Amino acid sequence: MFEATLRYNSNSDKHPVGTSLEYLDSVLVPARMLAANAKALPSNLQNYADDAGVSYYIDPSLTDFRVGDDFRDDSGSVRRWHWEYAEQVDPLLEELLTKQENLDASQLPDSHVETLTKASVAFQEGFVVTQLEEEVGKYDSLSDPDSYRPTAVIPWYHKIRTPSDIEVNDTILTAARDAASLPLKPCLFITKDILRSSTHLDELLSLLSEHNIEQCFIWVENLDKHETGQHDYEHIARFVSDLADAGVSPHFYYGDYFATLLSHLGLDGTIYGSMYGEEDAERREQRGGGGVITRYYLDEVSDFVKIPAVVDVQQRVGAEMCECDVCERQFDSWQDLAALENDDDENIQTPMKKHHLRIRWRQIRQVESESLTDSLDRLESDYQEYVMPFSRSNQVADSKSLNYLPCWQNALEAIVSE
Ligand SMILES: [Zn+2]
Repeated sequence: MFEATLRYNSNSDKHPVGTSLEYLDSVLVPARMLAANAKALPSNLQNYADDAGVSYYIDPSLTDFRVGDDFRDDSGSVRRWHWEYAEQVDPLLEELLTKQENLDASQLPDSHVETLTKASVAFQEGFVVTQLEEEVGKYDSLSDPDSYRPTAVIPWYHKIRTPSDIEVNDTILTAARDAASLPLKPCLFITKDILRSSTHLDELLSLLSEHNIEQCFIWVENLDKHETGQHDYEHIARFVSDLADAGVSPHFYYGDYFATLLSHLGLDGTIYGSMYGEEDAERREQRGGGGVITRYYLDEVSDFVKIPAVVDVQQRVGAEMCECDVCERQFDSWQDLAALENDDDENIQTPMKKHHLRIRWRQIRQVESESLTDSLDRLESDYQEYVMPFSRSNQVADSKSLNYLPCWQNALEAIVSE
């Protein structure tokens, strides 16, 4: 089954997640968020498992420190979530973050990489259960603690741009295998450049086979649908297919509808945020204030679109209102959605997130149940129906096009016909 995983990295997602469990297989929480919400979050994860069979993974958070300073405040101190994680994981992490600006695995002695990797594995395997046991108290015990451990451990991952970066990941995987009792699911964090080299891709396959890895995540940096060309999509599709052929189950760390389509080539799951979170780059600078712009996930074009543009385009197409339970309860027509735009952020964002999670789930289950030809036929007919209304609408920014839809189709057809 194709795994639908939500990137749960903000407390503002608590309500949308808690009311959408039937539309999720698992969640990914950052270790820093868990350390900083050590009471509430483990008990939420316990409820998700008990009530809906939703499992979880923990992002190791160590990768956050490699470049940039977005994990520090204006005075240079490590921000609270990251610091609480450092305190939980290992004194070495506190010491290094105090002494130096960043933490790059390729610049650290192997002994440090090993210590931090093992500490991060121990955190992932034990933190939630330890917290739950403390909560239960010393006169009682947690029944079946193993059902509250993560599905797999994600070892610390180091961005791969050159063969020497693969060696760093090799050192990490050796240490992680030593320390872990749960299965490992490493994250291959790669650039589009790496994907263009078949030699490097072979080296990645060897890395996984040398460590007997049976499942992995893939994070292709900057896989923005508006900035990725057909050739890069072909490289990705080929890599996914090669991994599946080699007996490795791949799962996208960030993925949009292209990832869903890749289930036809052997991709076994994808992670996405409640709003956005379909692609990402390694962070460098502190992020300025100001919230995100609320957008509506438009099923037919598989993208987040500004609300006035959705209303205009859907009226031009003559589309029926979305039939998910959230939209059905709240909107009679696209005009009602337009009216919501002037509401408070919180009031708009919650239904927009819940709608997105439902549509993604429906897309995943539909693609899974049909042939590749059926999926591509739908993609093409949606493109034909929406391309003119999109380009004619003056609510849609001129720079936004739907070119990615035929790109996805062509890339998949090219790889399947190889
Ligand atoms: Zn909806």
